[in-house]
Amino acid sequence: MSRMTDPSHTNPELSRARAILQNSFGYHQFRAPQEQIIEQLLGGGDALVLMPTGGGKSLCFQIPSMIRSGVGVVVSPLIALMKDQVDSLNQLGIRAAYLNSTLAQDQVRQIEAQLLGGELDMLYVAPERLLTPRTLELLQQTQLALFAIDEAHCVSQWGHDFRPEYIQLNQLNHHFPAVPRIALTATADKTTRDEIVERLGLQNAEKFIVGFDRPNIRYQIMENDGNSRQRLLNFIESEHPGEAGIVYCLSRKRVDDIANWLQSKYINALPYHAGLDSQTRQHNQNRFLREDGIVIVATIAFGMGIDKPDVRFVAHLNLPKSIEAYYQETGRAGRDGQPADAWMVYGLQDVITLRQMQASSEADEAHKRIERHKLDAMLALCEITACRRQALLDYFSDPLDAPCGNCDTCLQPPQTWDATEAAQKALSCVHRTGQRFGVNYLIDVLLGKENDRIRRFTHHQVSTYGIGTEFKAGEWRGIYRQLIAHGLLAVDLQGHGGLHLTEKSRPVLRGESKLLLRKLRKASKTRTRKAAADESIKPIDQQIWEALRSLRLALAEEQGVPAYMIFHDATLMEMMERRPQTIDQLAQVSGVGERKLESYGAQFLDCIISHANLPDDQGDTVSLTVDLLKEGCTVESIAEQRQLTPATVYNHLAMAIEHRGLPLAEVLPLSSAHLKSVRYAFETVGLDGRLKPVYEALEGQYDYGELRCIQAALNGDTS
Ligand code: ADP
Ligand code: ZN
Repeated sequence: MSRMTDPSHTNPELSRARAILQNSFGYHQFRAPQEQIIEQLLGGGDALVLMPTGGGKSLCFQIPSMIRSGVGVVVSPLIALMKDQVDSLNQLGIRAAYLNSTLAQDQVRQIEAQLLGGELDMLYVAPERLLTPRTLELLQQTQLALFAIDEAHCVSQWGHDFRPEYIQLNQLNHHFPAVPRIALTATADKTTRDEIVERLGLQNAEKFIVGFDRPNIRYQIMENDGNSRQRLLNFIESEHPGEAGIVYCLSRKRVDDIANWLQSKYINALPYHAGLDSQTRQHNQNRFLREDGIVIVATIAFGMGIDKPDVRFVAHLNLPKSIEAYYQETGRAGRDGQPADAWMVYGLQDVITLRQMQASSEADEAHKRIERHKLDAMLALCEITACRRQALLDYFSDPLDAPCGNCDTCLQPPQTWDATEAAQKALSCVHRTGQRFGVNYLIDVLLGKENDRIRRFTHHQVSTYGIGTEFKAGEWRGIYRQLIAHGLLAVDLQGHGGLHLTEKSRPVLRGESKLLLRKLRKASKTRTRKAAADESIKPIDQQIWEALRSLRLALAEEQGVPAYMIFHDATLMEMMERRPQTIDQLAQVSGVGERKLESYGAQFLDCIISHANLPDDQGDTVSLTVDLLKEGCTVESIAEQRQLTPATVYNHLAMAIEHRGLPLAEVLPLSSAHLKSVRYAFETVGLDGRLKPVYEALEGQYDYGELRCIQAALNGDTS
C-alpha cells in the first residue's frame, strides 16, 4: 500500500490520534508501530498485528475506534476479563461496554439501546455471542468503526488455546465487507500466523510484526537441588517482597502445599487450580487482580488473558512442555515494561514425567512427534551455556545479535566440565543392566549399593557395579538429567521410567566424541538486583512509595476496581522521581490523562507534597505504626505524627493483623454482635475480595480502612 511521505503533517486524523494518546491516555509518544497500525485502520484497511505481551496492542484498535465514526467491536475470548477492560476504559472517560452471558436481560437491552443510539465507542463481545442471529442483526443496524479480533491465535487448531467459535469469525468478512478488521496476537510463530490469515480471510491485511523480545524480563533457569521450595522463598523474600507474582506448579496437590507453606512464611500467597470450588477460585483471582502484592500459586489453568500489568515475577517449579508455553507463561510478568523476573527450577523428575505423559498420550504419531520435538527444544533451552534470550528468540526466528546481559547465563556464565568418562560410566550401566531400569536403580548400581533388588537381578556382578563412587547420588542425577535432555538416553514408553540408549549415545560410548556438561550451580550468592536497588532507595522514598500505593488502593476500593486501574506502578514511580508540585507538573507524568488528573490529581499531589520534607524514618514502617498504636495513639494521631494518610496507617495495621498476629481488637474494639454482622456481610457480598459492596451493605457504618482491617482478620483466620 502506498503512503504519503510524511503522514503526520498532512493527515488530520493522525493528529487526532496523537491528541487522544496524550489527553485520554496520558502518554507522550506512540510506540513503534502503533502509529502505522492506527493509520492503516483509519484508512479502512485490515491489519494483522503480532506484538509481544505488554507491547501495547490495545491502543491500536482503541484509538481508531474512537476516531472512526461508529462503534469498534472487540472480540475477546475471555468473558471474565471483559469487565476489567471496560472498567479501564471508563476510568479514562472512554465510552465502552460489553455484552456477554454475565449480564441480566435489562442490562443487555440497555446496552443494545446505547449501541443503536450511537453512544458507544467500543463494544466487547464474546465470539459465540457475536455470531448469534440477534447480535448480527443488531450490528447490521449499527454503524461500525472496525472489528478487532483479540487473541487471534485461538483460531489455530495446533495451538494450545484453540477455540472452535473463532473459526466462525471468517463470516464477519461476508456480513460486513466494508468494515476494517484487525487481528492481534502475542503468540504466533510462522505457521500459526499463516493459519490466522487463512482462517480469518486476512489475505489483504497489512502485517505488523514486532519482535518477540521482552527486554525487561530477566530469565533464570536452575537445576533442582532438592530444595526448590526454600529457594523460591529466598527468591521472593530477597527480590520481590510485597510484590505480585505467579508460581506455577504441575499438580493441584503441589499447588496447595506450596501455597500453604508460603503462607506459613508470611508470604501473601493464594492457591488456584481446577480442583477448588469456583467461588474460591474466583475470590483468589480477584484478590490477585485487585490488591497489591498477592502471590498466586497455580496450575497452568491460571493466567490465560490475565491482564494485570504489574506482575513482578513468574516462577516455575516445574518444566513447561514447550518453549511456546514457557514464553507465554513467563510473558505474564512485567506487562508494564518495568523489570520483572522469569524464574524456574527444574529437575530430572520433570523430564521423565513429561516424556512419559507424551508417550502415553492418545494423540496420533504426527502430533506426538511435534510434541517430542517441542519438549526437546525446551530442554535444550534449560541446558544451554550461552545466552538464554538469544536461544529463546532464535526459536521464534527472531535472532538477537549479541548476548542480552539480562539472563542468568549472561550474568553468571555457567561452567562446563569434560563429562565424557562419567557419561560413559552412566551409559554403560544402562547397557549392562539391560536397558530397562530407572535412574535411582542405576545410581545404586554405580555407587555399589547393597540391596535385595540388585542382588535379585545379580547386578552386583556387572562391570559397572560400584564404579561411580567419585560422585554423590545427586551429582549422578544431574548427569543423567543432562544425558536425557541431550537425547543420549530415552525414557521407556511403558511409564516405569526405564532408560535405554539412543543412536546419539554410541559415539560417546565408543570414545569417539567428547561430552561437555554444565556444572551444578550452587544457589546464587551474588548480590541480587533488589538488594542493590534497595540500598539506593532512601527511606523517605519508601514512605512516599507506600503512601502512593495505599492512596491508590483506597481509591480503587471506593470505586470497586483493581488498584492498577487507578494508576500503574510505572506512573507512581515517575511521580516519586519527579515530585511534581503543581497540577500542571503532575499532568506531565506518563499515564496521567485528563480524566484521571481531574478525578485523582489533587489527592496524589497532596500526598506527594506532604511527604516532601519528612525526616528520614529508620526501621520498619509497619512496626512504627504498630508501636504508636500500642502506646495508645488513635489512627488519626498516628497519621498526623507520621505525616501519612489515615489510609496508609490502616494499611499498615491490616498488614500487621493478617501477617503478624496483631489482634483486631487492638485496632477496632467491636462487640461480638457487630463483628458477626460484618463477617456476615463479607461472607455474603464480599466474596470477590472487593470492599465496595461490603461498605454499601453496611451502609457506610465502617470506613474503608476499618473494613480492610476486618478483612485482614478474616483472611488471617482462614489461612
Ligand atoms: P498488550 O495487549 O500488547 O499485552 P497492552 O495494550 O495491555 O499490551 O499495553 C501494555 C501496557 O503498555 C499498558 O499498560 C499500556 O497502557 C502501556 N502502553 C501502551 N502504549 C503505550 C505508549 N505509547 N506509551 C506508554 N505506554 C503505553
Ligand atoms: Zn542473556
